[in-house]
Amino acid sequence: MRRIGIAALVVAVAVVAGAVTASQLRETPTTTAAIVAPTTSTLVAELPPVSVPSTTRAPAASTTTTTPAPPLVPVTVPEEPLPEPSAPDPGADQVFDGFGVVTVAAGGADLASTPGGPILVRAREGLVFPADAIDGSWVRILTTCDEVAWVPLEEVSAESVAPPFAAGAGGDFANAVIVVDAGHGGPNIGTASPDGMLPEKVVNVDIARRLRDLLERSHTVDWESGTLYEGDDVAPAQRVILTRVGVGDTADYEAGLIYRATLANAAGAHVLLSIHNNAGWEVELDHPGSDVYYQNQVDGSRRLAELLVEEFRRSFAAFDAEWVGAIESGAKSRISPRDEVSQYYGILRRAEMPAVIAEGAYLANESEAELLKTAAFRQAYAEAAYRAIVRFLTTDEVAAAPSYDPVVWAGFAGSGDPVDTCTVPAQEE
Ligand SMILES: [Zn+2]
Repeated sequence: MRRIGIAALVVAVAVVAGAVTASQLRETPTTTAAIVAPTTSTLVAELPPVSVPSTTRAPAASTTTTTPAPPLVPVTVPEEPLPEPSAPDPGADQVFDGFGVVTVAAGGADLASTPGGPILVRAREGLVFPADAIDGSWVRILTTCDEVAWVPLEEVSAESVAPPFAAGAGGDFANAVIVVDAGHGGPNIGTASPDGMLPEKVVNVDIARRLRDLLERSHTVDWESGTLYEGDDVAPAQRVILTRVGVGDTADYEAGLIYRATLANAAGAHVLLSIHNNAGWEVELDHPGSDVYYQNQVDGSRRLAELLVEEFRRSFAAFDAEWVGAIESGAKSRISPRDEVSQYYGILRRAEMPAVIAEGAYLANESEAELLKTAAFRQAYAEAAYRAIVRFLTTDEVAAAPSYDPVVWAGFAGSGDPVDTCTVPAQEE
């Protein structure tokens, strides 16, 4: 066996934001159709006015060129995020050398407990696993259930760990590797809208996919207004990895916190953004109560969190809601009471790169839940995250957002450990 890698396979107790109660599990429908508002007319009627950007506004870059700028085309708000891209060709990148990640090729891949051993499951195409060793024609991976398994190299495409990225002015976004984590999944639903129709695990996936779609395309950004246009000022990121792959029901599976963080570490990700929506507010606010948790032991994480808070407030200002939040809302960090040093949240504790947990809006608040049922608001969430990541990786900007020093946190946030019934999503026959 050739050991090549990551050391983050240590099992530890893990926690995530958002306690799940038994009643939530019973009352919440498992259908993911609930992400769409009951009827189109209702949805449209409830949509707040979305500012329509001028198509004649010149991009900032046009002042430095003599060629006339083409008319700007606003980025549209898709009703649904794009379908899953087809799985990569296993023949294209089979040589696996160094730690990294593997993506299950079209048709699925057998997972075995040992190289050549009994098959545990035929894993679904498109799943991405962190990998840390090769033995002959087998590669060792960590499954979505936080378990070690082996997969034939010929049934996956392998990618090495990405080179480091110096976040800041001059950063080339075309080199950026970003892991977008949709919080919760499977029996861990997170919170839910008060009517029970929209579980957090579902809306998080939709937002994650919208963010992926933005990151994989080039844009021109009007940084004054925050409006995104089709254009070339910001290149597509080099690689965007989702921790939960699929649409609707196919994305509704458990993913352990060790898996999520290890995947980002093994990819050499330059940003890990975990998408959540909140419950348990303290007060009514006259502005969105977005909270973003940073990893205080990793340089840059706090700046990323502050930028994201600023961009959330900008994106959400276009919407009317009875906002709620914590008395102190903004960029925050929670420390475990066990040692008063390490991060409280399991995914941040393990992350080796600037990582944040975004609690964009309060899904448990009826007014904000109605917004989260609309494509326009979910797109605004994704666009805020997009702008924050671009600013973080390519500028030295520091946001003027509320920001708080780390605090020891003794609250209960629910366990993020996979339950006994956790299974790796299987390839359809
Ligand atoms: Zn959550």
